[in-house]
Amino acid sequence: MAGRIPKHFIDDLLTRTDIVELIDERVPLKKAGKDHKACCPFHEEKTPSFTVSTDKQFYHCFGCGAHGTAIGFLMEYDHMSFPEAVEELARRAGVEIPREAGYTAPVPQVGPDLLELMREAARFYKTQLREHPEAPKAIEYLKGRGITGEIAKNFELGLAPDGWDNLLRALGKDEKTREALVTAGLAVKKEGGGYYDRFRARVMFPIHDHRGRIVGFGGRVMDKGEPKYLNSPETPLFHKGRELYGLFRARDAIKRENRVLVVEGYMDVVMLAQYGIDFAVATLGTATTHEHLERLYRHAPEIIFCFDGDRAGREAAWRALETTLPVLRDGRQASFLFLPEGEDPDTLVQKEGTEAFRTRLKAGKPLPDFLFETLVKQVDLNRLDGRARLVELARPHLAKVAPGALQQLMQDRLSELSRFDPGKLSTLVGTSAAPARRPSGYGTGPKGPPTVMQLAIAMLVQHPSLAATVPPDWKLEDESLPGADLFQAVLGLLHSAPGMTTARIIEHFGDNPHRPALEKLAVMQHPVLEHDVAAEFPGVLTKLTQEALKHRTDGLLRKQQAGGISPDETAELNRLLTRRKG
Ligand SMILES: [Zn+2]
Repeated sequence: MAGRIPKHFIDDLLTRTDIVELIDERVPLKKAGKDHKACCPFHEEKTPSFTVSTDKQFYHCFGCGAHGTAIGFLMEYDHMSFPEAVEELARRAGVEIPREAGYTAPVPQVGPDLLELMREAARFYKTQLREHPEAPKAIEYLKGRGITGEIAKNFELGLAPDGWDNLLRALGKDEKTREALVTAGLAVKKEGGGYYDRFRARVMFPIHDHRGRIVGFGGRVMDKGEPKYLNSPETPLFHKGRELYGLFRARDAIKRENRVLVVEGYMDVVMLAQYGIDFAVATLGTATTHEHLERLYRHAPEIIFCFDGDRAGREAAWRALETTLPVLRDGRQASFLFLPEGEDPDTLVQKEGTEAFRTRLKAGKPLPDFLFETLVKQVDLNRLDGRARLVELARPHLAKVAPGALQQLMQDRLSELSRFDPGKLSTLVGTSAAPARRPSGYGTGPKGPPTVMQLAIAMLVQHPSLAATVPPDWKLEDESLPGADLFQAVLGLLHSAPGMTTARIIEHFGDNPHRPALEKLAVMQHPVLEHDVAAEFPGVLTKLTQEALKHRTDGLLRKQQAGGISPDETAELNRLLTRRKG
């Protein structure tokens, strides 16, 4: 995946990027010595242990072990894919990503023409809402729904007039553009040839992606037509499972509130915003996905799901709960708000006003409560086998939650309800021996004291300027010594490109199998690494040389004992043994 964007380009991009600036825009940093610090955005903490280094162009949290380069940060924090992160950095730096021959983007090819087309379409729909002969009818409809002109303007609402080719006539100037309109999901190709507008006689809601670009539309009929809501189909730009209506707009409010409200329709989002509840987003005619949730938790630690209190609503809530369990971990919360049957946020907030609706938000059912309530309903707790059944039902759900305090508390609750011994329960639930799970791509330094090789590589990658103190032709005696290939690779890289930062070294390795080890070493903590590295490095190199020598000698000795040594190797062995004595 990474290989198709030229390596030198990524290296160049990292040179042009300042990770401190990049992170500071998202997580305000304070200067601390030569580094910058903040409370970690990846775990809950009161004292800052999240450190960003200008020299290394690398971030590292001493609390949870999160670490990485500018690219890695965008991937974790903004939940971007690798190509998206590269694209974002390129955009910031104002450079074009060179495409290698035969390059096909692993993410959908987002041609600038499609995005431009979406912008033009949004402008067209907006103009129609002011100028088209049908505009008064649409405005009347919006007013009837309780939407003010101001909020319609804020949300860039528009009108797709009745008729088969309004948009096509306005934008589809040639065959290529008409085809692009089809690709963008705005027009449909007729079987016998020709095209027609996908959205007709609808109020239009533009859908923005996480960067604020229009990637799709939702259209609502103004009368009895079907379907009531029509969304853009899946296109190279638009993926229902990834986008959330209103997220880009609500970002600041979500941050301010420290929570996000998930509702079902865009009308709900718009109406809630009109009533000052501006931290709501909507899924787009799909159940909440893992990707949605990860994205939302990047913005706030608490998600409130809002559902109709009827049977269908409860079933949808249960599905949301099941998707949420695997992304839950300490510091993340979810709750479920059930509205009176037949009500949705749009109608309810109009009926009872902002304060009453805000009060409802406080009364949302925490996820663990909703989980156990639902399960308890299915068993008879007065019976021994009923309580056993409860354990059986709860087990797979609890096992999905990341180990930590939350999982433990949920388990305690199950123990109370089932009157099952807590100790035995954790064995049964299979949570006791579970290894601590970390966010993807994270890891702390290796356990136990590092080997000389680990220390040597860590010194090089954390202090790349040390490479200049090693002669260019320097080679380890034995390349089969564990880690020797990585050490030589890093050293070679630094010799060929002096001045590389830690971040550039890491990204140079792309998806090389060595990369995870290298990342661990880049954040390894060791007394030597904090002090006078320049003074310590020669000693470490000497030790490394001795180890390589010993490794090679031992290998040859074993070969000699087994009787499989060649004359050349015997000569080498003798030479090595003499050297060792000396
Ligand atoms: Zn952290």
